[in-house]
Amino acid sequence: MNYGCYKNARNASWHCLIDYKINSLPVKVSRIAKQADITLLKNSAVNLLNNSESGTTLMQNDKLYIIYADEQSAQRCRFTIAHELGHIFLGHLFNKDGAGFATTDDAEHSANVFARDLLAPACVLHELQILTAAEISRLCNISLEAATYRSERMQELEKRNAFYKHPLEREVVKQFKEFINKKKSQSYVEL
Ligand SMILES: [Zn+2]
Repeated sequence: MNYGCYKNARNASWHCLIDYKINSLPVKVSRIAKQADITLLKNSAVNLLNNSESGTTLMQNDKLYIIYADEQSAQRCRFTIAHELGHIFLGHLFNKDGAGFATTDDAEHSANVFARDLLAPACVLHELQILTAAEISRLCNISLEAATYRSERMQELEKRNAFYKHPLEREVVKQFKEFINKKKSQSYVEL
């Protein structure tokens, strides 16, 4: 993995889904971290976060560590880890020497977009027509709050039919094909 090799947050999330061969939801962020040789640390064990922080990334001896506030819900933890992966993959780490990020609003926003697009890929939601916050929260295992933002964004994308304009997104949906078909057939059975 080349840290910081991805450029924009949306494309980075597609790259990440493809590179880590993610083909089902919910996305296992711990598996991505493991494969990228990033160690996840519970803050309850290391006590490195401020009270206001949900997570941070540190580098020590060329090794990356994501520390997350594990007293928060699993859904929040998943988003925090995805957000920190965003900082790493988008190269925000190199804005500053040594440990820790220079956190600008811009970087925070990009990391949030990355996390949102990674955990709730628009093309998969589109294919399954999973568009409400409650459904998105359940399928993607993200908080209702995060799912509400995703749902609003999905309505917009649906209105503009803004899918598959980028080759990476076409590749992602191909990777999820089996999952999408299985989900679709399940919903028929449930009827
Ligand atoms: Zn951040």
